Amino acid sequence: MPLVNFPVGVGVVAPAGSSHLAASPWYVTIIYLSAAVLFVLSLKWLNSHKTARRGVKAGEIGMIAAILATLFLPEVRHYNWILAAGIVGAAIGALLALLTPMTAVPQQTALSHAFGALAAALVGTAEYFAHYPHLSPVTSGSIAFETLLGYLTFTGSLVAAGKLQEVLPTRPIGYKFQNPINFSVLAAAVVCGVLMVVAPRYEMVFPIFIGLSLLFGVLLIIPIGGGDMPTVIALLNSYAGLSASAMGFVVNNKLLIIAGALEGSSGFILSMIMCKAMNRSFLNVLFGQAKIEKAAKADDVYGGKIKSVTAEEVAAILDGARRVVIVPGYGLAVAQAQHATGELFELLDSRGVQVEFAIHPVAGRMPGHMNVLLAEADIPYDRLKEMDQINSQFEDVDVVIVNGANDVVNPDARDNTNSPIAGMPILNVDKARTVVVIKRSLSPGFAGIPNPLFAKDNCLMFFSDGKKATMAIIQAFKEL
Ligand code: NDP
Repeated sequence: MPLVNFPVGVGVVAPAGSSHLAASPWYVTIIYLSAAVLFVLSLKWLNSHKTARRGVKAGEIGMIAAILATLFLPEVRHYNWILAAGIVGAAIGALLALLTPMTAVPQQTALSHAFGALAAALVGTAEYFAHYPHLSPVTSGSIAFETLLGYLTFTGSLVAAGKLQEVLPTRPIGYKFQNPINFSVLAAAVVCGVLMVVAPRYEMVFPIFIGLSLLFGVLLIIPIGGGDMPTVIALLNSYAGLSASAMGFVVNNKLLIIAGALEGSSGFILSMIMCKAMNRSFLNVLFGQAKIEKAAKADDVYGGKIKSVTAEEVAAILDGARRVVIVPGYGLAVAQAQHATGELFELLDSRGVQVEFAIHPVAGRMPGHMNVLLAEADIPYDRLKEMDQINSQFEDVDVVIVNGANDVVNPDARDNTNSPIAGMPILNVDKARTVVVIKRSLSPGFAGIPNPLFAKDNCLMFFSDGKKATMAIIQAFKEL
């Protein structure tokens, strides 16, 4: 499930002054067409891990070609400004890419959406003021659409990044009359947008419209919490794309229209896929948080029922196992335990144990997070089992090792209709004969709720860092 993120808002330098543009030279049109084909192929190839690298390359080549071709448009001037902005942008981007740890990529993605959307919104704002009051209704309408989505995606993505970075509370923040207030703000923004088209003489309408759009972005995301963040990121990706597509109409750039529409639709499809993976309705994710379920208290769930084990004990249990399933989670990424996990896999495999990896669609902090980690450790693809493939087989599994996963193996999601994550599909690891959970403490996962799995009779807790624990198990296993 690729999170498509063509930087359409910032990548393609779109010339301002739409209605006065000359037709593009033939070679620019051909390069644009080729870039559009590359973007479509990129999306197709990103769909499978076997072709994903090719997909990334195709997207990169398409984007570079599109930017270079745009520079050859006759109305593009002021190369010194473009160069200066390009250097500053590339430097910030390179630093972000180098300094951001793998575990923080989701918040970095949210920031990319924020600034891509802001770029689109600012282009629309500049176009509005450059040509006011001589805008055609179509241009005003396109600008209204572009800036509404652009500004709300900007603030919404900043809130999402803040929640993921935990500088803002990750829990849903609900308040009385939340949905009526949100809808009123959106309705007021839409009324302003309509006024911009039908009664353009009111100059103050556009600044009010911008303020309402910015406010709506915050109000839209702040009530969404924890388990629903993956969907929100995909959705904001979609909004940023649609805003860029509308910008394409405003500045008369066909490639922007295509690339923005691709990003908009793929982001929307991805959010639908993720809703399905979490058994949530789309509207429920966006508007369903007014009723916040209370989670059980940790002491009530765990009191006197936790059994902890050592590396030697885990090694002894593994020694008698024929089938082992490893469940990676966010903690495995934090601990950077992928290579140690690869070593444990090889060791068990060489002793004739059937070892598989169970991948939950929202394990970690972004779609495909676990697949990327395990690919880094050269785990063969055919050992990776998706949730639907493995879930009916846990009864036949001797040992499950849960390394740094929590919410995605929380049986409350399945068994307790009052749980805040009720209905989210989980890996049924509690059905296996023995479950070993590696984590540092009894702290909750992203959803912030206790996990009754840890208190079950067949569950043993190995309290340690994910990498240290795996290496200790390998050592103990070799010494048996
Ligand atoms: P969780 O966030 O539920 O749990 C991770 C666990 O890892 C924590 O309980 C923590 O416990 C443990 N941990 C942290 N550091 C280490 C370490 N160094 N060594 C060992 N353990 C460690 O992760 P899951 O993967 O189970 O679930 C993902 C959650 O994130 C879901 O709620 C999902 O909805 C949400 N999410 C997913 C996104 C996606 O697209 N995949 C995006 C955003 C959110 P302790 O501190 O005790 O060690």
